[in-house]
Amino acid sequence: MKYRSHLLRHRLRHQSPVITKLTSGFRRFRQRWYRGDEELFQALRQGQNPHALLIACSDSRVDPVLLTDSKPGDLFVMRNVANLVPPYSKDGGSHGVSAAIEYAVKHLEVRDIIVMGHACCGGIRALVDAAEGEGHHGEPDEFIGPWVTLARNALHKVQYTMPGASREDKAHACELLSVRFWLKAWRTFPWIMSRVEDGTLTLHGWYFDLRSRELLEYDEKRDVFHPLVGHSET
Ligand SMILES: [Zn+2]
Repeated sequence: MKYRSHLLRHRLRHQSPVITKLTSGFRRFRQRWYRGDEELFQALRQGQNPHALLIACSDSRVDPVLLTDSKPGDLFVMRNVANLVPPYSKDGGSHGVSAAIEYAVKHLEVRDIIVMGHACCGGIRALVDAAEGEGHHGEPDEFIGPWVTLARNALHKVQYTMPGASREDKAHACELLSVRFWLKAWRTFPWIMSRVEDGTLTLHGWYFDLRSRELLEYDEKRDVFHPLVGHSET
């Protein structure tokens, strides 16, 4: 016991401020959820039954659980650079995004899949900058470039329709377009397609505009984004 308390003191003395902040956060999390809602955690110990699969960017400003004020167990979340979904492919490779979608759809039987793009996305900006000949300065990237080319359909459309626009405007248009395009790309997954057709699964395209603080939704029939939660709504 004495040895353990010595170890604890040693660890606290040498812990970085970042780790201290995170562990303090974990204590508050445990206090809030374990002590405040014992029933919830008893249920979560038995398994998960999330409402939806939400695919979002890894960007630290767009955490879907925080943005939707969700509880532990509410959302099955897949995050990556620029919230992209590689097309359906049975090539025997390790497809992390497809595996997450498959687990959510086939095993957890979620009824809704949401892809959420966002404003000021660094991944989309990297794609636009590379196309405009404005490369990243400093240590060269190895993986970001090939990954974000998954949004090249959006980029090509933007370059064709708004050639004289600023890079900011092109990036913004690409962010919105990539959400629209992925709503279509998901349908290349046969087990998503069949569930959408029989009405047991619905696909949604969202966009979090962190500049205007609005949450937008893509209306496929009218081909527009409209506010799901508008700027002035409380
Ligand atoms: Zn992003």
